[in-house]
Amino acid sequence: MAVTAGTPIALVEGVYSRLVANAELGRKRLGRPLTLAEKILINHLVDPATQEMERGRSYADFTPDRVAMQDATAQMALLQFMTAGLPTTAVPSTVHCDHLILAKVGAKLDLRDANDVNREVYDFLRSVSAKYSIGFWGPGSGIIHQVVLENYAFPGGMMIGTDSHTPNAGGLGMVAIGVGGADAVDVMTGFPFNVRWPKVIGIKLTGQLSGWSSPKDVILEVARQLTVEGGTGAIAEYFGPGADTISATGKATICNMGAEIGATCSVFGYDANMATYLRATGRADIATAADAVAAELRPDDGAQYDQIIEIDLSALTPLINGPHSPDRAHKIGANGVGKEARANDWPINVSAALIGSCTNSSYEDITRAASIARQAAAKGLKAKTELLISPGSEQIRATIERDGLLADLEAIGATVLANACGPCIGQWERAADKTAQPNSIVNSFNRNFPKRADGSANTLSFVTSPDTVMAIALSGRLDFDPRVDTITAEDGTEVMLDAPVGEIIPARGYDPGVDTFTPPPADGSGVVVEVSPTSERLQLLQPFPAWDGKDYMELPVLMKAQGKCTTDHISAAGKWLTYRGHLENISGNLFIGAVNAFNGAVGEGLDITDGARRSYPDIAKRYSEAGIRWCAIGDQNYGEGSSREHAAMEPRFRGGVVIFARSFARIHETNLKKQGLVPLTFSDPATYDLIGETDTISVLNLPPVPDQPMKCRINKADGSTVDFEAKHTFSPEQVEWFKAGSALNIVRQKVANAK
Ligand code: SF4
Repeated sequence: MAVTAGTPIALVEGVYSRLVANAELGRKRLGRPLTLAEKILINHLVDPATQEMERGRSYADFTPDRVAMQDATAQMALLQFMTAGLPTTAVPSTVHCDHLILAKVGAKLDLRDANDVNREVYDFLRSVSAKYSIGFWGPGSGIIHQVVLENYAFPGGMMIGTDSHTPNAGGLGMVAIGVGGADAVDVMTGFPFNVRWPKVIGIKLTGQLSGWSSPKDVILEVARQLTVEGGTGAIAEYFGPGADTISATGKATICNMGAEIGATCSVFGYDANMATYLRATGRADIATAADAVAAELRPDDGAQYDQIIEIDLSALTPLINGPHSPDRAHKIGANGVGKEARANDWPINVSAALIGSCTNSSYEDITRAASIARQAAAKGLKAKTELLISPGSEQIRATIERDGLLADLEAIGATVLANACGPCIGQWERAADKTAQPNSIVNSFNRNFPKRADGSANTLSFVTSPDTVMAIALSGRLDFDPRVDTITAEDGTEVMLDAPVGEIIPARGYDPGVDTFTPPPADGSGVVVEVSPTSERLQLLQPFPAWDGKDYMELPVLMKAQGKCTTDHISAAGKWLTYRGHLENISGNLFIGAVNAFNGAVGEGLDITDGARRSYPDIAKRYSEAGIRWCAIGDQNYGEGSSREHAAMEPRFRGGVVIFARSFARIHETNLKKQGLVPLTFSDPATYDLIGETDTISVLNLPPVPDQPMKCRINKADGSTVDFEAKHTFSPEQVEWFKAGSALNIVRQKVANAK
């Protein structure tokens, strides 16, 4: 199917043509009414008639309708895909250039600089996209999730995206899941997407939002109630009469930030607001097709949820969450966040206010913010702090410029940044004096972990609605409550702000702006993908070698981690973002965040070849150059955090073959297996304590056999040994990955055999 700047109606009709029958099949098999999430999942099962569907337990194979990748994660995903030898991706896929644009002075110059600095990466992504029939959204087109919402999402669809906030598309009734590059490669190469069948948390909305309360406050309240872990392993499904009062883009805001409660994704049932948005964005045919199966695009009456939360929108008041955690909720105003700020010494005067990100940059969001700006200007007010606006897409930027909204915002002192992630992902160059001391910022983003916005641990970031951001920008104070507080105008008068007024859909329709989409050519086979061998940022991948058929004997322990060892500890982010497309260079960060269990040092250990202490990446490089295979030891939940595959590829690239741990984070464990490593869990967790710094470990009964433990041996320097057992979770299919050297090598073999 050709990849265009939209989802072809034929794809949607294909999904709907089987929806009614599959939902009926699901009801029969489960013997009860279905949630919407279940209907969408069942309709995308590889085999709906036989696959297990037990919530929270079964692993199931799905066939998503499409894949989206942002520029930072697309690099390694596509480098891997290239090695498969396929002529095109198996499902429609798109690349979106949004993460690599640094916000410095404003949209025009920042975009010019980004095109300069990232030219090599953009050229690579553009040419790979052309070669393999992938749609390419160039720099300036907007943030991946807003572009997907405007062009690709559709009710009842299922997609995966290599970014945590892919669930944004749930605002249009789609099951949209954020994944690592390895999962994207699976789906693009025609493999199913395998994931544990999620639980379903029902969030019943009643009443209607009004005044200063907005959709953002719904998810801030959900985060307050469920915390950052409360949604883990579950889909959050919104239903009830209140759900139908929220616009499609408002629903997207709520689904987007559902990532902050750890949910697999979030979803709303199809309603008139979704149909309106589809029609306004040039997709009347999809709205008509959805209308025809509307009953199956909503939960059944009596659908059963694992947990239900009820929120009365009429009673919901504005919230502001932070700092450091998106679930740390406060009411706005002196008695809410103000009181907490005084108790915790958080600066009351705000140093910057930011509106935008994929979470909150819809036309409705901007019209509400601009309505506040207009009345503020009329009352003689200007922003009392730096005010930055990031439009979510070129379409939004062009429309709000045409409709005079950007001018309204600029009139009170706002600076408009590029249509990109910018400050939301640390791509924000702030003057050093701003971050030299503790400072508070307010923004309409979704994440507020330390250092996320500007890289400074001094910055305390609070997430809230664009309306509240604007009010706080005008007052300059974190504890401002526009419902009761006044602001002193330049002429000394005290003025109050009226509640914002928004327009959901632009009366004159959307202005698409500059066309930034490059469709792939009908035949991309002649396209040459250039990667310079001297490039610092990109490197073509070589297939990992197949297993040599022998047991692993006397593997030195490169690293034994104490406590948490997340994917950030294994493969750090920050400045390493630059090397996401260069496996050798990014391997320079291997384990640099890991705490050495033998001496508490961070990122360094013992090189057994000469007894020297070196950084882990240096030792790994030396071992790999000397042909020494090694193992590493993790503690509990090794590899939690992001699903980035670099945390599995780097050890493999540097000669790591086995990772032992007390337990693994599931996605990372699978990633390790995909790259040909053997993740093993100590049958007796106390075995972890028996492993010394100069010990070696042997694995004696390779290959893994499903449901049989591995026999292992610790070899001590004094010649003594300790035998122990370790468990694994290899399925028969995954054993083949191990034997072949990686899951991708299997695809490559299949492609070669088919030729
Ligand atoms: S705007 Fe922020 S949350 Fe959204 S995709 Fe970009 S970095 Fe991620």
